[in-house]
Amino acid sequence: MARRTFLAASLSGIAAVALSSCSWPDARPSPSASPSATPTPTPTPTPLPPDGVPLPTAMRRSSWGSDPFARGAFSYDAVGTTTSLRQSLAEPVGERLWIAGEACSATDPGTLTGARDSGLAAAEQVARIAEPGERVAVIGAGIAGLTAAVHLVDAGFEVVVVEARDRVGGRVWSVEVDGFDRPVELGPVLVPDDEPMAEALRAASVDTVEFDGVVEARTSEGVAVAIPPTGVDAVDAARAWADAAPEDVSLAAALVGSGTVPMSTVPGPDEVSPASWLAHTIASGVQPATGAPSSAVSARTVPTTAFPSGSQLVTGRLSDLLDALADRVDIAVSSVVTRVAHDDRRVSLRLDSGESLTADRAIVTVPIGVLKSDTLRFSPVLPFAHQRAIARLETGVVDVVWLRFEEAFWRSGSPAGAATPDGADGLAAAPDVLTVVGEPSTVAAWLDLGRETGEPILVGVIAATQATRLEALDDPEFQSAILADLAPYATARG
Ligand SMILES: Cc1cc2nc3c(=O)[nH]c(=O)nc-3n(C[C@H](O)[C@H](O)[C@H](O)COP(=O)(O)OP(=O)(O)OC[C@H]3O[C@@H](n4cnc5c(N)ncnc54)[C@H](O)[C@@H]3O)c2cc1C
Repeated sequence: MARRTFLAASLSGIAAVALSSCSWPDARPSPSASPSATPTPTPTPTPLPPDGVPLPTAMRRSSWGSDPFARGAFSYDAVGTTTSLRQSLAEPVGERLWIAGEACSATDPGTLTGARDSGLAAAEQVARIAEPGERVAVIGAGIAGLTAAVHLVDAGFEVVVVEARDRVGGRVWSVEVDGFDRPVELGPVLVPDDEPMAEALRAASVDTVEFDGVVEARTSEGVAVAIPPTGVDAVDAARAWADAAPEDVSLAAALVGSGTVPMSTVPGPDEVSPASWLAHTIASGVQPATGAPSSAVSARTVPTTAFPSGSQLVTGRLSDLLDALADRVDIAVSSVVTRVAHDDRRVSLRLDSGESLTADRAIVTVPIGVLKSDTLRFSPVLPFAHQRAIARLETGVVDVVWLRFEEAFWRSGSPAGAATPDGADGLAAAPDVLTVVGEPSTVAAWLDLGRETGEPILVGVIAATQATRLEALDDPEFQSAILADLAPYATARG
């Protein structure tokens, strides 16, 4: 089914799903305010950036924290989060209602893989107990919802997906932006390197290349310095201490409790102090991986890298993966579900238009941030174990900003891998993750996305409190704030 026809088709699906007591809308529901992850698409004139950093020729940024249908970027392990909490959330509610999505994944939360597997698991459970031909409603057209819907359609069920936005894909969002010759990914641009995902990407003709994940650090003077294990060792020590503690604590608390901090602020031979290396690991590793400050992240499961080597870097258009799934199911877009009523016979959905629909069973795949809000209510309320999981699981905030420049000024001063391992050819590998050490940064890390193709594109990753702060700025203020962080790469000295 062509995408532009899916709404019309979904309306016929809607008619088929409706029971006598409920009705589907007989016309396209009024579009809800389309949540914009980007306030403005083009750069606004802005004061000259500092220290010779050139102005970008194009810019596009996300705002996932203030997006009402995401309310953050992805779930993370806050203090007290356990695998069993995520498993509880994925438990069926009676035999009529399931919750799925990345936050329900016990093995890969916060990822595309986790979301896809969670949607599939819920659909398999539905398919096992539902009668042939039953009607199933799936709420949310992200990768979890669409994966579930396609599985159920293939299994012979009548399925409709109800999506709040005027597009499918959820947190996967590829957009065309003037000034960029390639799609801009406002959600993930790195995808896990697992075979089912690779196969799905190939089938949808989404091109990827292997991502080296070679990180470079420069001081504020532009000097490239080799990254020692100091920061990661400190986090490892805090994690080991927290593992043995009677109760989970935050990374910040475990660093103190383990005696790891305070660390020396005396600069070492590289002119960087151990304390600055720990701050670097937290700012460019922990925070972009979780979207949360170290005072909130569980010390027991804290990750130290957000850009793992061996991931696949999307060079095509990631939304094609979701569109390929969407083409196979009926979808009602611009339809915000505000209430899910369920009993032992059926599930009833109320839309923000006031209309409602009924199905035999439903899978709810809205993000955990939406479940935590009062914008979607359940009647009767969810079982205690589900409520507990929803209360405990948290969403981190991570945003991206895509910048295109006249030329890749940051590559010219590359110190040929002073901070990097050797490449396969024996030469030092060029960095593809640029960071700054010794100074607090607004941007956690810059991904040199054009390195493979020669395009002068940098993607800034902004995380945790910085992301929330920057979402409130207008474009000129935002641009000034982030470009300041590139000064060490404009005045590079290897
Ligand atoms: C900036 C960023 C970077 C990321 N980087 C990576 C990465 O490198 N690797 C990786 O694997 N993952 C990454 N992720 C995470 C990944 O994108 C998500 O884990 C995944 O897309 C979640 O899919 P989902 O189907 O669970 O949720 P979603 O994609 O959020 O789908 C849920 C759907 O529900 C809809 N919805 C919400 N409320 C309602 C309602 N009331 N009624 C109807 N519909 C509703 C939403 O509009 C949405 O379409 C990143 C995410 C972000 C934001």
